[in-house]
Amino acid sequence: MITRFAPSPTGPLHLGHAYSALVAFDMARAAGGTFLLRIEDIDTQRSKPAWERQIYDDLAWLGLSWPQPVMRQSDRLPVYRASLARLWSDGLLYACRCTRRDILDASQAPQEGAPMTGPDGLIYPGTCRGKPRTPQAPLPDGTALRLDLAAALDRIGGPIGYAETGLPQPPDQDAASLVAAVGDVVLSRRDFPGSYHLSVVLDDAAQGVTHVTRGADLADATWIHVILQRLLGLETPVYHHHRLIRDEAGKRLAKRDDARALARFRDDGASPADIRAMVGL
Ligand code: GLU
Repeated sequence: MITRFAPSPTGPLHLGHAYSALVAFDMARAAGGTFLLRIEDIDTQRSKPAWERQIYDDLAWLGLSWPQPVMRQSDRLPVYRASLARLWSDGLLYACRCTRRDILDASQAPQEGAPMTGPDGLIYPGTCRGKPRTPQAPLPDGTALRLDLAAALDRIGGPIGYAETGLPQPPDQDAASLVAAVGDVVLSRRDFPGSYHLSVVLDDAAQGVTHVTRGADLADATWIHVILQRLLGLETPVYHHHRLIRDEAGKRLAKRDDARALARFRDDGASPADIRAMVGL
């Protein structure tokens, strides 16, 4: 068994991160497997070396250990680009120059009904999907690239499913329901050759992750990940979506919520055992 914790170094780790990391660590340890740490730093604007150092420090303090070297997404651009080039030449990607505003306006057109949201927010209304594609030309730079989901599912054929051990097992989904619920997600951003969905899939596969443990808020995105695995010929790991740690008001903790930062509890004298107790482990 190989599990992983994959934080983004964009702020302090809080109790929710501690819980997620401990779930992955404990699961691997119980099975005699390996726990990996991966730094998801594709958001180059918000990722900071100081936050990365703090992640190492906080996790070591919690009692976690992991093999070196740690994979960092910013080192893997050529890998992401190669998969994008493959999907591009397969005719499954298209360039999209829509702004958020364009998408909102198109989604709110009176004939469309209430705008639908998916794993990435508003479901893309498909404005750029019909423009001519040039799969024989090189992968374009400086533009967002979206996955043509209907074409991708047509290529895969058959319903999509995965094994879930945290939440109730979801039923397999057919193409029509996935197109409606997920839409044409961005696989390459205008400023970065990749996106969360593409890199997480390629990195989990490259690291041989067998069990992806992460918060239940990412369960909807798993459909995209399984579709990408099928398109790119990668194994689908087992997914274990765990409960979220919430504040007293029932709100999910966010990175900016410094009051629940691990470092803060450490400074106040809490022990790693106290942190385990606080998150219900
Ligand atoms: N980097 C993501 C986050 O910090 C985690 C993604 C994942 O576990 O798949 O939310």
